[in-house]
Amino acid sequence: MRKKIVAGNWKMNTNLTEGIELAKAVNKMIEEARTEVNVIIAPPFTHLAEINKILTVVGLSAQNCASEIKGAYTGEVSVEMIKSTGAKYVIIGHSERRTYYGETDNILAKKINLALEHNLIPIYCIGEVLTEREAGRHFEVVTNQLADGIFQLTPVQLSGVIIAYEPVWAIGTGVNATPFQAQEMHSFIRKEISKKYHDAIASEIPVLYGGSCKGSNAAELFANPDVDGGLIGGASLKADEFLQIVKAFK
Ligand code: PEP
Repeated sequence: MRKKIVAGNWKMNTNLTEGIELAKAVNKMIEEARTEVNVIIAPPFTHLAEINKILTVVGLSAQNCASEIKGAYTGEVSVEMIKSTGAKYVIIGHSERRTYYGETDNILAKKINLALEHNLIPIYCIGEVLTEREAGRHFEVVTNQLADGIFQLTPVQLSGVIIAYEPVWAIGTGVNATPFQAQEMHSFIRKEISKKYHDAIASEIPVLYGGSCKGSNAAELFANPDVDGGLIGGASLKADEFLQIVKAFK
């Protein structure tokens, strides 16, 4: 049985006081909900150590990490620094990092390797932009992102990765992928992993859906056999709605 996971990516939102309040509210609701779902939040770097002190039932993730281990890289945050805050996960390759900060699959592969070497679980984001989908190139794009970002890993390493399929046209737009589109791509991702590695890893690896997932559509997305949960942006900033998404699992 694969883990069910709902992860909230707060992006560049909340100051420290607001972040602590939100983390407290989410943790309390998840404690009371007694859910089997693995719930994770990814606040900004500046909040990680403080929020780690609050969380009892919710996992902690960073939103990014440096591609180098240490040294003269002003403004960067290393995997070792993240680990020292108590965080267990790190989002790598979010489309905003790829688009606004020029992160290529090769850079992302370095980050994934470093995260795994430091016992952080990478949440590796992949997905096509609208023009690629309209041109019917979405499978090809995802194949390349898998090949260049994570297919350098050994089978054991790969089994420590979480994949998030996030069609870029669905992120923050209010237009989610249909349950059919999500299931079709998640099953394709599993087949690619199976071709490169083997069936056992492909069937064990969690594949999350991300892109305008909210309380009102989470149930129909999560009902698909290859959708193991969600990476949630906007809707993770409201504790009530985030809980509704967690509860969407049947
Ligand atoms: C995201 O940024 O990972 C995301 C899924 O955002 P949203 O839920 O706001 O579309």
